[in-house]
Amino acid sequence: MSAVPVEVGWDADAAVAAWHGLPPLAGDVTTDACVVGLGATGLAAVQALVDRGLSVIGLDAGRVAAGAAGRNGGFLLGGPAPPLHQALAQWGDCAVDFYRETLRELDRVFELLGPDVVRRVGSIRLAGLPGAPDDAELADCAEHEAALRAHGIGVERYAGELGAGLFLPDDAAVNPAVRALALALPLTQVAALHERTPVTSVRAGTVDTPHGTVSAGVVIVAVDGRLEIVLPQLRGRVRTSRLQMLATEPVRPGRLPCPVYCRWGYDYAQQLPDGRMFVGGGRDLFVEDEWGTRTQPSAAVQHYLDGVAAQLAGEPVTVTHRWAASAAFTADSRALCTEVDPGVVAVGGYSGHGNLVGPVAARAAVALALDGTAPPAYFAG
Ligand SMILES: Cc1cc2nc3c(=O)[nH]c(=O)nc-3n(C[C@H](O)[C@H](O)[C@H](O)COP(=O)(O)OP(=O)(O)OC[C@H]3O[C@@H](n4cnc5c(N)ncnc54)[C@H](O)[C@@H]3O)c2cc1C
Repeated sequence: MSAVPVEVGWDADAAVAAWHGLPPLAGDVTTDACVVGLGATGLAAVQALVDRGLSVIGLDAGRVAAGAAGRNGGFLLGGPAPPLHQALAQWGDCAVDFYRETLRELDRVFELLGPDVVRRVGSIRLAGLPGAPDDAELADCAEHEAALRAHGIGVERYAGELGAGLFLPDDAAVNPAVRALALALPLTQVAALHERTPVTSVRAGTVDTPHGTVSAGVVIVAVDGRLEIVLPQLRGRVRTSRLQMLATEPVRPGRLPCPVYCRWGYDYAQQLPDGRMFVGGGRDLFVEDEWGTRTQPSAAVQHYLDGVAAQLAGEPVTVTHRWAASAAFTADSRALCTEVDPGVVAVGGYSGHGNLVGPVAARAAVALALDGTAPPAYFAG
């Protein structure tokens, strides 16, 4: 592990390397609305607020998508974190509304960014890992399939060189950092976005940073990992965990025909057309070590991921990048969309599935903050 730099594999893309950067906040300022966190969620909130005619300031502690939004597996999966049959059992019928809303969000992202950024290739849910099939998980796949079919959501059986499971034709894959920066670029023309501006406290009407204070009638906090640090009042409702990934040199192109999540979704990988693989997972096996806000990869999880990468590749792999990021979890996997102070709405706690849910939550947050519209039942208020 020591020979491989701790760097985000996605950042090797030319579009990320070409990002020009945005200036930090410079002094106190008054605006209609302030968005804290410029990942895909915060950027969706900025867009929704601008669309309502408000002046908007967006702040990020690092680069745009410095957190999970630029460091994740890049899976754009319909539905909630638990498979649909489990979500139905836990949340009731609103799980189906949620599923449909995330698919609509995927259509939006595709329309906005096009096929060069969003690869609409579907996804595979594999029972077990290649070479280590899991009959109990295969039985769960059958229940998953039945729930999807019952609600008219696309699903097929998968049986191939990787093993057996389900193929979900609606899903897609992205380089998450490219996605976020592509969303941010046009927003720099219509909102004041600032990088390298950590927010130190948020309360009604006021957002403090070391570079100045933003006074705003509406504040949307769109930080997933570390949400309970930015808003300590949410401790106990969300809990931050480290999630880890690695990237490899190219292996046989087409080995993974689309993003694959396996072993109950705990391990996952996507392969780019040039053969490079981006592999994550293992959190469940080291769960106590992974709670908290550290983002340095650990030797134990990375060693585990080396093995997963080789199993998924079907051949030995050479690792080129290792990294980690923070994501927040909730007890029942329902994300938060909640007013924490008058005019201050927090979203987050996507339980490892925020790529499509985040923007849906962002728009619900704006509707709550501006119109008092209660968030849909699939969010925890
Ligand atoms: C390794 C990994 C793999 C994952 N894989 C997937 C996947 O394949 N598909 C999927 O749907 N989800 C996945 N997730 C979850 C998903 O990445 C997140 O839920 C989602 O990206 C959250 O995005 P966000 O914009 O809401 O928040 P984040 O990206 O968590 O945070 C937004 C921004 O807030 C900033 N910030 C934090 N604190 C402050 C502060 N005090 N002041 C100012 N700014 C601050 C950060 O710098 C960051 O840029 C994964 C997560 C990880 C970590």
